[in-house]
Amino acid sequence: MNIQDLLGKSFTCQCGKIHTVETRAYVYHDNILDELISILKKATLKNIALVSDSRTFGIIGSQAVKMLAASKLNIKNIIVPDTNDKEPVCDEDTCSWLKSQIDAADTDIIIAVGSGTINDLCKWSSFDLDLPYMVLATAASMNGYAAANVAAKIKGVKVVQRARPPIAVLSEPKIIEQAPPEMTAAGFADTIAKFQSTADWVMNNFLFDEYYCSYCAQILQGLEESYLKNPGHIKSGQSHAVKGLFEALFLTGLSMTMIGTSTPASGGEHLFSHVLDMTADIDDQGHWLHGLQVGLGTILSTVLYELILKIDTPFIKALPETIDKSFWQNERLIYSVSEQYTSKHGNIQKIADNECWGQLKAILKPLVKSPQQVKSWLKSAGAPDNFDQMGCPRERLRNAILHMHEIRNRFTIVDLAWLIGILPEHVDEIIDTWLTS
Ligand SMILES: [Zn+2]
Ligand SMILES: [Zn+2]
Repeated sequence: MNIQDLLGKSFTCQCGKIHTVETRAYVYHDNILDELISILKKATLKNIALVSDSRTFGIIGSQAVKMLAASKLNIKNIIVPDTNDKEPVCDEDTCSWLKSQIDAADTDIIIAVGSGTINDLCKWSSFDLDLPYMVLATAASMNGYAAANVAAKIKGVKVVQRARPPIAVLSEPKIIEQAPPEMTAAGFADTIAKFQSTADWVMNNFLFDEYYCSYCAQILQGLEESYLKNPGHIKSGQSHAVKGLFEALFLTGLSMTMIGTSTPASGGEHLFSHVLDMTADIDDQGHWLHGLQVGLGTILSTVLYELILKIDTPFIKALPETIDKSFWQNERLIYSVSEQYTSKHGNIQKIADNECWGQLKAILKPLVKSPQQVKSWLKSAGAPDNFDQMGCPRERLRNAILHMHEIRNRFTIVDLAWLIGILPEHVDEIIDTWLTS
């Protein structure tokens, strides 16, 4: 897949939809600030809100402010404050604060300087304020650069929020290569999750006739050679591997934008990470980088697939009608999680039919990876491959596994695991065998 061929294009796809790529520039080379100034001048964008946090301002934000000002552009420099001595979060309060700092009538464009949270806050604000935005990327840590949605915390629940894709993504190899190693490892883990999320997507297409696009599902094909053949090169920060990873992250975000939802890159494995983020407030225990949590969720997804694909004749159980209120504790969370859970696909009796079950297994088998493979990739890339390495207590891990299917209305492998009795029955065995050291 050649990124440059897709930029700024609108085309009729084999899936029947017209896919539109609003992002017009993807730059991965030295001296991006010169390129930035040239893009701004060409588009006559003069009034700029430049948004960073205290870390990314030091990486390239302050240099950007100086160079843009020297080029006679008007800069409003906004540094998003940390929350409780930790990095900023993407929630409605922080987004409201950011929007209050941007004078929409007097701003031509928002420029995000950062990766996950800063990029998400800017694309969300840009959507609400109806302003274009672009990003100076600082790490290969997540796949949301080109995405048109963000996973924001709203009323305590991680939900997918409509946002705006960037008009340009600019990054300097030396900045991306020198980002903290755990951020690059997190981006790697977020990327390999795509094998599992694609399987969930194919499953929903088969079971519920949900819309599916094979072009977007296979968008990373051809890139594996660069970032996946030798994940040790990700750990050691080798240029070609980090470049390949950054491209894979960009294209994954693009696939979500082309589809209009997070479906191509967010299946059951992502729910695990979202639950850890959501419960961080309840038990005041904090959480870890999105991609690192997703990497461990990906191991869990592979284990569930492996156990499910071994079953010859499934016996479908009735699921609990309501969520486990005692776990979610506060009323606001109970209400929003219930809303998601009760609107999930209900009728799945067709999988009890042997022919249907056989077809489903035959479709899914070639798509999913084995737990051994995913663990080995994560380990080589320098990402945790079990929860002890992250310092996550067993009870928290167990609770996340047993409640992750409640938070989203989209069907995933985790729901299937509940329906055919893999969960909750085998939770301890799964934790002991695959998820702890
Ligand atoms: Zn398509
Ligand atoms: Zn992700």
